[in-house]
Amino acid sequence: VEERLELIRDTVSATQEGRHIILSANIELPEEVDDVISSGAEGVGLYRTEFLYLNREEPPDEEEQFENYRLVAERAKPHSVIIRTLDIGGDKLSESLELEEEENPFLGCRAIRFCLQNPDIFKTQLRAILRAAALGNVRVMYPMISGVSELRQANALLEECKVELRERGVEFNPDIEVGIMIEVPSAALCADLLAREAKFFSIGTNDLIQYSIAVDRGNDKIAHLYEPTHPSVLRLIKSVIEAAHRNNIWVGVCGEMAGDIQYTPLLIGLGVDELSASSSVVPRVKKAVQSLSLATCQTFANEVFEADTAEVILKRCIEIARAHY
Ligand code: PEP
Ligand code: MG
Repeated sequence: VEERLELIRDTVSATQEGRHIILSANIELPEEVDDVISSGAEGVGLYRTEFLYLNREEPPDEEEQFENYRLVAERAKPHSVIIRTLDIGGDKLSESLELEEEENPFLGCRAIRFCLQNPDIFKTQLRAILRAAALGNVRVMYPMISGVSELRQANALLEECKVELRERGVEFNPDIEVGIMIEVPSAALCADLLAREAKFFSIGTNDLIQYSIAVDRGNDKIAHLYEPTHPSVLRLIKSVIEAAHRNNIWVGVCGEMAGDIQYTPLLIGLGVDELSASSSVVPRVKKAVQSLSLATCQTFANEVFEADTAEVILKRCIEIARAHY
C-alpha cells in the first residue's frame, strides 16, 4: 500500500471532474516540514507554533522564531505556509508564559485571548512572522477568534508591528494575508461578518465540535457524544463555507476531520476548498479526493444534510467512502 501511495505523491489533488481540492499538511515543529514535502502536500495548512513555547523557561525571542518560520517557509516554497499564532491555554500549558490556573481552561484565557492580553508576547511573534513572510509564501492565522472585535484588535497589533519593523529597517512583507480559524461557534455563526475582514478561513473541527456540542474532546466518559457528523456541526460548517464563498474567500478544514477519509465526500460536497491533515495521511486523502466526483459529493452532502442524527449520517459517510475506496 505504501508503494502505491508513493506513486500518487506528485499527482494533483483533484476530483474526477478536475475540481482541485488543495491538500496541505499540519505541523507542530519545523523539522516536520520534510515530511510535508515528501507526502506530496501543497504546503503547510496549519503550523501550530505553540510547540515552540513548551517545556522551556523563557519564551522564544523574535530571532529564534524568525529562524524557525524562515526555515519552514523556505523549504515549503513555492507552496504556502499558514502560521497559526500562539494557541496556548486550554490543555496546552507553558512554563515560560506563566499562565494562571483557571477553573475552565477551555473557556478561559486561551489562544488569541491570551495574546491580546499579552501584547508584547504576541507582537514578538507577529514581527517574526512578518519577517519570514518576506522570504517565502507565508500567511498568518489567528486561533480561537470569537467575533469581529478580536480580529480587529489582532490586526491593529499587526499594523503596529509593521511600523516597528519599518522603523528598524528590517525586511518584511507588509501585504501578508491574514486568515482566522473558525473553531468557536460564535465565529461560525457570524462568519459572514468575519469573512469581510479575513482573507481565508480554516475550520478547526476539533474545537468546533467540542464547543458546539459542549463535550470535552479529551474526556473518555463522554467520548461517544463527540460526533463530527452531528447535524449541528454540519450546519455550522455549511454556513461557514457559504459565508466565505459569498465574500469570495476560500475556506479549509484543518481539524482531525480533514484527515479522516470517511468524511472526505461530505466535506467536498459541503464545498471546502482546502483540507489540511497530518503528513502521514495526506496521500490517503489525496487518493480519496481523486476517486470522487464533485457532483456525487454534492448530492450526497445535500441528502445527508436532511438526516436527523449523527449516527445515521456517519453510517452514510462510511457507505459512500466504501463504495469509492
Ligand atoms: C482544531 O481545533 O480543530 C484545530 C485544528 O486546532 P487545535 O487542534 O490545535 O486546537
Ligand atoms: Mg483548535
